[in-house]
Amino acid sequence: MKAVKVKKARLFQKAVIASGTLLWLFATIGVLTSYTSRDQEILLALLPLTIVVGFLPIRFPLPASWSSGNENINFTLIDAFVLIVAVWYGISGAVVIAGIEAFTSSRRLVRRFSSNLFSSAMMSLAAGAAYLGLNAVLHYGSQGSNRSSKFSSVAIGLLIASVIQVSVNWGLLSTLLALRNKNSILREWKENFFCSAPMFLPTCVVASLMYFALQQDSLVMLAIGGPILAAIYLGHNKYRATADKITKAERERAEQAEQHVRELDNYIAEQERISRALEETKEHFRHAAFHDSLTGLPNRAMFSELLMAEIEVAKHRADHLFAVLFIDLDRFKNINDSLGHAHGDLLLAAFAQRIEGCLRPIDTLARFGGDEFAVLLNGIKDSGDAIRIAESIQQELKLPFMLDKNSAFSTASIGIALSATGYEHSDDILRDADTAMYRAKEKGRAQYEMFDKAMHVHAVSRLRLENDLRHAIENQEFLVYYQPILSLESGRLSGFEALVRWQHPERGLVSPADFIPVAEETGLIVPIGWWVLEEACRQMRDWQSQSSSYRSLTLSVNLSSRQVAQPDLVERVEQILEKTEFDPYCLKLEITESVVMENAEAAAKMFKRLRSLGVQLSIDDFGTGYSSLSYLHRFAVNYLKIDRSFVSKMVESNENYEIVRTIVMLAKKLGMEVIAEGIETEEQLSKLRNLKCEYGQGFLFSKPVTKELAQAFILRKEPWVMSLMTLETNLDQEDIKLLSNAYSM
Ligand code: C2E
Ligand code: MG
Ligand code: MG
Repeated sequence: MKAVKVKKARLFQKAVIASGTLLWLFATIGVLTSYTSRDQEILLALLPLTIVVGFLPIRFPLPASWSSGNENINFTLIDAFVLIVAVWYGISGAVVIAGIEAFTSSRRLVRRFSSNLFSSAMMSLAAGAAYLGLNAVLHYGSQGSNRSSKFSSVAIGLLIASVIQVSVNWGLLSTLLALRNKNSILREWKENFFCSAPMFLPTCVVASLMYFALQQDSLVMLAIGGPILAAIYLGHNKYRATADKITKAERERAEQAEQHVRELDNYIAEQERISRALEETKEHFRHAAFHDSLTGLPNRAMFSELLMAEIEVAKHRADHLFAVLFIDLDRFKNINDSLGHAHGDLLLAAFAQRIEGCLRPIDTLARFGGDEFAVLLNGIKDSGDAIRIAESIQQELKLPFMLDKNSAFSTASIGIALSATGYEHSDDILRDADTAMYRAKEKGRAQYEMFDKAMHVHAVSRLRLENDLRHAIENQEFLVYYQPILSLESGRLSGFEALVRWQHPERGLVSPADFIPVAEETGLIVPIGWWVLEEACRQMRDWQSQSSSYRSLTLSVNLSSRQVAQPDLVERVEQILEKTEFDPYCLKLEITESVVMENAEAAAKMFKRLRSLGVQLSIDDFGTGYSSLSYLHRFAVNYLKIDRSFVSKMVESNENYEIVRTIVMLAKKLGMEVIAEGIETEEQLSKLRNLKCEYGQGFLFSKPVTKELAQAFILRKEPWVMSLMTLETNLDQEDIKLLSNAYSM
């Protein structure tokens, strides 16, 4: 805006220069062509005088009410002089004189040529305008013929001319300033030239006196005029200087303003650049803040926002139903580990695409991270709609995914939560869909589950269990129970499996099935597991030290998947063995088959290191974990523990019997021994003995028992008779004593 004003001021300045210079040129031509040579000589002779006169100002003190008190108004004779020339020699002479004088006096003050030209042009125009005023008055005044009337008409003409001259001068200058400073002309005039307005009066008086003196040619007039002129000559020329100084100051101000405008323009450009960059960064953070970078799908934050909006709609419209599907890939970790992360990413992107294909345009799919996805199903009719979509997603996943050159299969577990329950917050419906998804996972792979109130109760009690479990560690509420493992050939006690129990202060004895899954999930199983190992080793060492015949008793201890994942697993085992002074060759670490196979490569390495300590290894729950035969061959494992599910049905189901038989044969081929767990009947026992299964444990012999009861088994001298010989687990202390005494005899 300011730049536009500056441009306008320049344009105006140029216009004044052009018109003033043109006028001056015409005037010069006029002087040269129509003036007599004598007049020309007089005018030429007058020029130096004009310039000298132009330098001489007369200072008039201002009345206090007009100014702040320290300012004077300068009057110079030049304007009066120009008017006299106008009367005598006409417009051309006046304009030439005025133009030259203004140029030279301005040059003295300002070096800028355009400013000098402007001054000269402005004065030329003022002189021309003044002449027109003067001429008009003289034209009417010339009708009177006598001398006094002629003189009075000249005086009036000079008055009018001086008013015009001053007005044109300051008018042009005020306009220029107004354009530069974005002010009104009147305001500029008031601020800069208002005080100079009365200057027309001395101009007119001096011009009249000079005219009168030249007319009278008398001594009287010289006597009057002389002192006035002398007084006038005593001053210093500041009238023009003031104007030029103002011009100079204004020019400097204008230049400064231009400089500021340039700086401002740069500043604005810089600000715009910064704000653009800021906007881009903001935008970037908005992609990053609300979208998942791998799939480009909305992320959890955005999904929650959308969900909140949906909850609000449902609050106001009773018939508005929506559902959230919480989707989790089954065994994604396996794919990631076996094919690598790049393929894992490809799978996730392809998986997202498949799910999207099952959705309507109004539904929203989001990725929460890892292999977790969520779907918002908008405006559904009933739960059937949500189930149909869940089924179609699972149907879609039946086809293999082509990842680069590999193909992979992946199923998903889906939890569904319906808005009908009346949710207040997005977190609540997400939590319930998540709970349902976990329930679906528990059912096996590729399942979906609808959230219901029972699940909520279950989720709450699970949360409570988690809290209690944390306290249980601090309060040392865990116990180790021991279940005897027998040599099926000799019927003698071979060792024990250590099984953890939780002595809950309110709930009593809690079985592992109720708390191990939560402990696994929360990682609390790690400290629990190490505690069990240490406690059982110490106890077993204690028993072994009681008699040399007990030295070969073995101890089986379960390792959780979380423990297996610990990088310092081998070191921890070694430390505990050292600390408890337990013979590593008597320790059998049991690792569930599915855990082993989930990360077979790492397991193989870890097994080797454990074996190098002397520790023996068992694959627990064998037959349930899809073992790969090639791995089994490579694993440095000593025992296969047949899962109870096969043993318990081996009598009535030929299929199960065959499985058990095959496992025993396989183990023999691989140089391993077999432990059958869950032997409950004599039929099972006899079949297992026929198959030459080496070891067995089960309720037929004993349930897991306290250490006191376990000691009773150790103390027993004669071999176990293969008949019903289970010990009651609820024997009181007296019975234990009796038993101990009896066996020790
Ligand atoms: P597991 O390692 O397979 O242990 C054998 C389970 O089968 C024990 O259940 C035992 O009581 C049960 N069992 C043994 N014989 C019979 C039988 O004849 N009939 C029936 N119905 N059951 C029998 P428990 O003690 O409830 O332990 C369950 C599972 O919890 C264990 O299965 C093991 O995986 C886990 N677990 C127990 N203690 C620990 C521990 O200290 N650390 C870890 N990581 N897991 C443990
Ligand atoms: Mg076990
Ligand atoms: Mg087992």
